[in-house]
Amino acid sequence: MKNSTHIASHLLRSRIGKLCVAIIGTSPSEMIEKATEVLKDSNFLEFRLDYLAKPAAALPSLKHFLSSKTAATAIATCRRKENGGRFDGSKTAELEILLKAAEAGFHLVDIELETIEALPQESLSELRAAGAAVIVSYHDFHATKGLDAIYQRMLPFAPDYMKIVPTARTLSDNLTLMKFLERVEDESNSSVVGICMGDPGIISRVLGLRAGSAFTFASASQGEETAPGQIAARTLIETYRIDQVDAATKIYGVAGNPIASSLSPLMMNTAFRRETVNAVYLGLQTSKVEDLFRLAHEVPIQGMSITMPLKQEVLPLLERTDALSAKIGAVNTVLRAQDGKFYGFNTDVAGVVSPLERRLSLRGARVLVLGAGGAARAAVFGCCDKGAEVFILNRTPETAQKLAKQSGAKTIKREAVAKSQFEVIINATPVGMSAAAKSGAAAKATPASPLEEHEINARFVFDLVYNPIETPLLKMARQKGIGVITGVEMFVQQGARQFEIWTGKPAPEEEMLRVVLHMLRQNAEPSAPANPVAATSSVVSNQAAAAERPKSEPKSEAKAPAKQSPPAPARKAAPAKPVRSKPVVKEQPKSKSKARSR
Ligand code: NAP
Repeated sequence: MKNSTHIASHLLRSRIGKLCVAIIGTSPSEMIEKATEVLKDSNFLEFRLDYLAKPAAALPSLKHFLSSKTAATAIATCRRKENGGRFDGSKTAELEILLKAAEAGFHLVDIELETIEALPQESLSELRAAGAAVIVSYHDFHATKGLDAIYQRMLPFAPDYMKIVPTARTLSDNLTLMKFLERVEDESNSSVVGICMGDPGIISRVLGLRAGSAFTFASASQGEETAPGQIAARTLIETYRIDQVDAATKIYGVAGNPIASSLSPLMMNTAFRRETVNAVYLGLQTSKVEDLFRLAHEVPIQGMSITMPLKQEVLPLLERTDALSAKIGAVNTVLRAQDGKFYGFNTDVAGVVSPLERRLSLRGARVLVLGAGGAARAAVFGCCDKGAEVFILNRTPETAQKLAKQSGAKTIKREAVAKSQFEVIINATPVGMSAAAKSGAAAKATPASPLEEHEINARFVFDLVYNPIETPLLKMARQKGIGVITGVEMFVQQGARQFEIWTGKPAPEEEMLRVVLHMLRQNAEPSAPANPVAATSSVVSNQAAAAERPKSEPKSEAKAPAKQSPPAPARKAAPAKPVRSKPVVKEQPKSKSKARSR
């Protein structure tokens, strides 16, 4: 027979959601203001009392807030500095504050394992007697290791929740955590919360729920993270659609390093949502292909965008690549086909060629490509393939010569550029990127434009750099009355082709363009609202995207099917339909099947 503690604990579990939003602030009124705003998205809040100078003094006003917001469920946390928090009091002081918080109406209190281990045995019962359920938590800011040992240390306390939060150094660390969650899911009466901190751990914040984590944490907004790698609540809800991630959800992602600031998750998740594809697209931060493919095999991952520095390194791990990727020697798209094997494609080529072909015929066109790196290779091979006469100018002439030889292009000297006329000039160097333009030393090494005004003699200038949207090169070209093509167009085009390869559906290009443009503009204006994803779905108008679209662009082209068809046709994705959670890693036989409401 269940005792009253278990019934209370069960009631609490049925009350809380999947997403707990951390509230920080330097005063109780600031916290209450933020919590009131967050309640529009989530009823489950964690008040980080350790962010306050006098946590105990805040409790009367927080008590008043909680009694007026009966739908809210709140955790009180007062993490000590030694455990990664801000509270510089003793373990006894931490307990005292949590006791007072329980009396003030907090439904749960979070106490660190180290604290509870050091305090008298009856401390946990005191917290419960004060009316709160107990989370015993453990944080490792260095690694993901010894999870079972930590679990064993927590077991004797029989808390309502065990929260185990290691740090992911590799993508495989997420597998370690998720397999652990699956293993212990039904082993005790305690529910387990597991998350990996750090940028490589982002996957665990979304997929951890499906592996058995009772809930996950989010920040109230971008910039208010209480742990490394934490994602803003709105982003988890609207971009990652965390409420809809279930056993049938297909997993995709962008792999490379760094990934945290990539716009691909926003763009691709928007596309999945728009086309009602039950899929989620995650940032997969790694510099090691072995790490990536271990994760890809075990989760399993259905498709990947590959970015720097992995575009060449992935080739040996693929079953096969299409002819163009093999020629270029780089892949930016991986598909897991129905045979379970991974196949490679290069949609960067389409990303360069299709915006050009919307404006002119490349056959016989004189094209100048600046740079000889990865993006330049896609531009050079793509334009040569379409019959253009391609000239390469690169900072390191030897690399340009090598590429010219491989592709059938020519090299050109800088002094010859001003005297030449081209149909198109393509900038495939990072010169003009916003970060480089801002910082002192980098600005010196990286001039704002790769060409001077008198050297820009063309019908069109295409800058593959997409941040800022209008680079110094494009500004100069526009002033000379030359047609400009932004890097955003390439970004959206290469992403659209990836979407089509993976899903077999036409990509919602306009929507993809719209969210990317909005985010770039918002990032360029620091005063813009802090919840970008929410804003993208409501604030941006169709006209904004249309204004950016070239006048000659045929609208119907957005629905054109992918030219590069995958080796095995992509299956139609299942509609977003809630089903019972099941392991995120490969299905394994499970000893118990106790259902838990999540
Ligand atoms: P990459 O492989 O590192 O190649 C960079 C190229 O730029 C090299 O040829 C390099 O010359 C040259 N370069 C670098 N710094 C330079 C400088 N200060 N002055 C003159 N030349 C310089 O990079 P990538 O992947 O090709 O990317 C190049 C640019 O394309 C980046 O800005 C990237 O954001 C953009 N891109 C955009 C998209 C999109 O979807 N819009 C997609 C891919 C790339 P050396 O050979 O002398 O080193």
